[in-house]
Amino acid sequence: MIRTVLGDLDPAEFGVCDAHDHLFLRSPRLPGEELDDPAAAERVLRDFAAAGGRALVQWTPYGMGRGAADLPGLSRATGVHLVAATGLHQAVHYEPELLAGLYEGLAELFTAELTTGLRDAPAGVRAGLIKVAGDYHGLGPHTRRVMAAAAEAHHATGAPIAVHHELGTAAPDVLDLLCGQYGVPAHRVILGHLNRLPDLRLHRHLAGSGAYLALDGPSRAHHATDHHLFDTVAALVEAGHADRLLLGGDTTTRTARHSPGPTHLLTSVGPRLDREFGPGLSRRLLVTNPAEALAVPRSAA
Ligand SMILES: [Zn+2]
Repeated sequence: MIRTVLGDLDPAEFGVCDAHDHLFLRSPRLPGEELDDPAAAERVLRDFAAAGGRALVQWTPYGMGRGAADLPGLSRATGVHLVAATGLHQAVHYEPELLAGLYEGLAELFTAELTTGLRDAPAGVRAGLIKVAGDYHGLGPHTRRVMAAAAEAHHATGAPIAVHHELGTAAPDVLDLLCGQYGVPAHRVILGHLNRLPDLRLHRHLAGSGAYLALDGPSRAHHATDHHLFDTVAALVEAGHADRLLLGGDTTTRTARHSPGPTHLLTSVGPRLDREFGPGLSRRLLVTNPAEALAVPRSAA
């Protein structure tokens, strides 16, 4: 089953999915760019649904204004399945006082948000994945604490772990830590932002590990990810890794909301995937793979 904000869902019902995006997000690093308007979020979801979108996974973790109280109503109003995240981003996205009070009991916090409910949402609204973040070409002390807690919460719940990679770097370190040291199965890890580092040899190696690669960023016109998206997909599909690929818009700022947003995945990226790589690839990347990447055994939760 997939744990949505409205309850547990049969993966077969999940449908066309934006596997990495944000309806709500707030960070001291992005002043004036807060995504905090439920009406704007609803417009995004209505456009997405009108283009055929059925599910959206929000990677905004704990303490970053994830709009937890609004997500169930938005899902009901638009018919789009929403998956919320627990976990933590890099320390720079928080006030230091907030983090100081969180480090003790971090695994318990993540586990409770996955099984009981999000701290900032009405009772029973639960997370369906754990978001963590690496650092630039390495993993610092904050990151290592968060990843240790995420691995513990994964083992308690089966929930997938979704990873922000700073400019696409440090993914091998992340897999060494989560999978090598803490025993998280690679297919339960979703590696985000790798297309910010267009190193195709590395991408093939990472996909070969069994982890999912979330190619994200069409909403962020200021990043170069669009330039590499189709070459990246080609390299991975030709190497036999089509079953490891996910797509996401990754809208993180108000400015980016004026870009095509999640709908772009359906109106532009998906049709071109089918034209270039054969019919069925868009369904594989937008329907089949996200349902497998997000699903956990019922017994685990
Ligand atoms: Zn993101």
